[in-house]
Amino acid sequence: MKFLTDSMFGKLTRFLRIFSYDTVYANDLIDVYELDPIPDDILREFAEKTNRIVITRDYPFHNKIPDKSIYLEGEGVYNFLKQLKEKLDLEYNIDMQHARCSLCNSELKKIENKNEIKDELNESTYLYYDTFYQCVNPECQKIFWNGPHIEEIKRRLKSKLISGSDI
Ligand SMILES: [Zn+2]
Repeated sequence: MKFLTDSMFGKLTRFLRIFSYDTVYANDLIDVYELDPIPDDILREFAEKTNRIVITRDYPFHNKIPDKSIYLEGEGVYNFLKQLKEKLDLEYNIDMQHARCSLCNSELKKIENKNEIKDELNESTYLYYDTFYQCVNPECQKIFWNGPHIEEIKRRLKSKLISGSDI
């Protein structure tokens, strides 16, 4: 399942990418189309062409393509994830092998030898972790690892989605 997220969903976009969902963020299309904001018709066309479900908080827009879009209400990324799980039965697993770059949506590759990226890490991260992944996009090359931020996401997902409490 692939997504196109509208401009209100920056954080949700990064989360969906970490959970391995191919997600294009509407704001990333501003440079491509040289239009800001991107008109609904262009978003709709892009989503159709690339076979993506639109995630939006614009109800009139959702109403134009009810089968090809999901309307989310309220605030907060865990609240949005909960609604998506209910509507689309999404799974939220973090497996770096399949995750996508949170910044640019490209695939990640495993770093075979962490010495290759030693200069790009702070010393404690380099010493403490052994497994790293890097974005394959030459213009991005962001590095990822299973640090405390990932553990925190897993913990919060468990408490907020499984317990059923709001936010
Ligand atoms: Zn990237």
